[in-house]
Amino acid sequence: MLPPIDHSDQSRRRMFKTLLWVTMCFGVLFSIFNATRGLWLLVGIEVIYTTLALYMLVVVERTRHLKALTIVYLIPFLGVMMATLANPNTSVGIFAWIQTIPIILYLLLGLRLGLIGSLIFVSLGLYLYTQHYTEKNPSDSIGFLLDIGMATLAITIFSHTYEHTRAENEKRLIELIRTDYLTGLANRSKLTEIFCRERAHAQRNQSPLALVYLDIDHFKQINDRFGHETGDQALCHFASVLSQRLRETDLLCRLGGEEFAALLPNTSAAQATRIAEQLREQLESNPMDVQGMPLHMTLSAGVASLGRDGERLDQLMSAADKRTYAAKRAGRNQVVGGEVAVAS
Ligand code: GH3
Ligand code: MG
Ligand code: MG
Repeated sequence: MLPPIDHSDQSRRRMFKTLLWVTMCFGVLFSIFNATRGLWLLVGIEVIYTTLALYMLVVVERTRHLKALTIVYLIPFLGVMMATLANPNTSVGIFAWIQTIPIILYLLLGLRLGLIGSLIFVSLGLYLYTQHYTEKNPSDSIGFLLDIGMATLAITIFSHTYEHTRAENEKRLIELIRTDYLTGLANRSKLTEIFCRERAHAQRNQSPLALVYLDIDHFKQINDRFGHETGDQALCHFASVLSQRLRETDLLCRLGGEEFAALLPNTSAAQATRIAEQLREQLESNPMDVQGMPLHMTLSAGVASLGRDGERLDQLMSAADKRTYAAKRAGRNQVVGGEVAVAS
């Protein structure tokens, strides 16, 4: 099995841990350095911050509120940076650290907060610089201000573009792994995800939830008679005909091969049986055109409902599958409803 996608949360967790390690190491180095210069207030702040970083390293692995924790950490982090910049005893070189702000904020907080945070803290950093130096030596200082300002602007633009592209690609990738490549319907992975959401909703609101298992009859014969490519087109035709009949809130998905399932929120077993019957009629009365000839397809279906057939998706699938098998045995092109006892 493929490992799960390393989506934003996981990569941001890793980035945050890296920042914590870097802060800890630099915190120790800077506090030693500042101690030798007698800047005891800064030493105190750095020691407190290093301890905070150590504590966060312990909790970051299991927190469910990563973004909030990151913000809680970043505000004093940037605060310390600004306090250091504001300190009249610090050297001009310290302003080079302004350039790290957009990279850190975009990587840890994403596009929107990354942009807002970068604008606020970079502007503040540059403003502090003007407070320190522009009056002492205007020509040199303005040159340095322009250099650091332009470099930081360039880094902000690169970070923004990178994060935008990364987020778009991640969205596309997640959509791709939840979609059946042939029919464009949801696949089993998306069904599992949506089922969990709908089950929680149904349990909260005491509303019904039904699952219909759909299997095309004698599909192998279509492949054998017309070829695999026509078989593929038949699967797309099936998906398109059935989608037309379902509501926006229903989820039709391809489980694999010529087997499909429809998840029907707010639908009782009796209602789902009627809907499955309508789907069956819809398919029967909409033949596919193969080289100018109508190709009639039929389906067999089985219905299952939350509660009566179980609470888990695999239990509902198993019950609906067994009823579909009963429909096949009874002659195909029919629906076995959720009220029919499951044959063991
Ligand atoms: P039954 O009425 O009992 O369901 O018979 P059936 O022929 O529909 O079912 P069976 O399981 O015997 O055959 C399913 C066929 O579906 C066999 C397989 O080659 C074909 N199939 C599975 N996936 C695809 C696909 O992606 N494209 C095409 N064209 N055929 C597929
Ligand atoms: Mg089958
Ligand atoms: Mg079949």
